[in-house]
Amino acid sequence: MISFDNTEIAFKGKSSKDLKKARWLFKMVSSPRMVKFGKWATNVALTMRLPINGIIKKTIFHQFCGGVSIQDSLKASNDLASRNVKTILDYSIEGKTSEEDFDKTVAEIIGTIHEAKKNENIPFAVFKVTGICLFEILEKANDSDEGLSEKDQVRYDKLKERLDQICNEAFTNDVPLFIDAEETWIQNTIDRLVLEMSRKYNGKRAIIYNTVQLYRHDRLAFMEKEIELARREGWYIGLKLVRGAYMEKERERAQEFGYSSPIQPNKEACDKDFNAALELSVKSLDVLSFCSGTHNEESSLRLATLLEENNISKDDPRVYFAQLLGMSDHISFNLANNGFQVAKYVPYGPIKEVLPYLIRRAEENTSVAGQTGRELSLIVKEIQRRKQTN
Ligand SMILES: Cc1cc2nc3c(=O)[nH]c(=O)nc-3n(C[C@H](O)[C@H](O)[C@H](O)COP(=O)(O)OP(=O)(O)OC[C@H]3O[C@@H](n4cnc5c(N)ncnc54)[C@H](O)[C@@H]3O)c2cc1C
Repeated sequence: MISFDNTEIAFKGKSSKDLKKARWLFKMVSSPRMVKFGKWATNVALTMRLPINGIIKKTIFHQFCGGVSIQDSLKASNDLASRNVKTILDYSIEGKTSEEDFDKTVAEIIGTIHEAKKNENIPFAVFKVTGICLFEILEKANDSDEGLSEKDQVRYDKLKERLDQICNEAFTNDVPLFIDAEETWIQNTIDRLVLEMSRKYNGKRAIIYNTVQLYRHDRLAFMEKEIELARREGWYIGLKLVRGAYMEKERERAQEFGYSSPIQPNKEACDKDFNAALELSVKSLDVLSFCSGTHNEESSLRLATLLEENNISKDDPRVYFAQLLGMSDHISFNLANNGFQVAKYVPYGPIKEVLPYLIRRAEENTSVAGQTGRELSLIVKEIQRRKQTN
């Protein structure tokens, strides 16, 4: 059976110099104080217009991003491809609020679809709905899209137009498209819209993929319902399975407004539902294509085992594993080395614009109670292995 212990395979693409740089970076972000200070210093430097792009580019951006543009990211993509890992170009800018910016983002997403069409190393495109619409409109439409004010309705209709433009482009170019999941107080809107697009474009195969966050206690039931609906109505369903990225925010908001938290009671319950979702997925391949988006070794191993037990070929086009660039290379490259289909999200965009993404990666790798983070310990292990073999 596959093992993720092989750091030689995991870091084959990294020179010893690159590995030492990565060790330095993960050591820096392992300290909560350092991350806090880094966040503050970056903000100050940006406000004072100090030239910090260079240092960010060489350090954290280099680790977690492909480049500033699609073209600039192709080197990272080709490096992954040389070791059988595919790319999902992720235009990672956040916090835009003008209609003009939303239109620019739509054009950029369509650019990634066109690149995927001509590039065999790019099997999917991806985007976030908050990149093409004001958050508050999604929030107002969350319970129902009826009864919006006239002004909000115009913006909501514009969102639907943009969404259809992107999905139509994916359909016409035959490029499957992931739509990321976000906060629960806008996710009903996203789910409704994705369902509409799936019904429209998934008649022959899954082109439009919704995302299911298994840290929510209601998502396994949601998944079952959606799969059943697709089966009954005769279309194909695409799903990306993840645990979920907004846990703290979700819990805080539920407490603030006094409703019961949508999040699972604990990590075990979340893991249990994630693994149950993998089992349900493998059983539903008559209508479902899915991608397991996780850095969890146990879940990745579980899916690899499920495929084997159910005689599903490792390169079945309906099943993908995915991780983020710069994270969990031991999972990605060991899976790919064993013949499974693996892709990495390759985030890209202008340095200043992708900073919120980079800060989240830094915070995620901050060590808990002084323990060495997993990424850091793998890097250290590989540096030691190379020392011993040279
Ligand atoms: C390819 C890819 C695509 C992604 N797309 C999305 C997306 O569209 N939307 C999105 O929200 N996230 C997305 N994520 C992020 C993902 O949701 C997780 O935050 C991240 O991957 C960490 O979870 P894990 O399964 O990798 O690992 P693990 O380390 O096993 O799990 C950590 C996760 O478990 C959950 N968790 C931790 N403690 C508890 C607890 N006490 N109770 C309940 N749950 C708990 C949280 O979700 C936490 O992030 C994506 C990740 C990847 C790799």
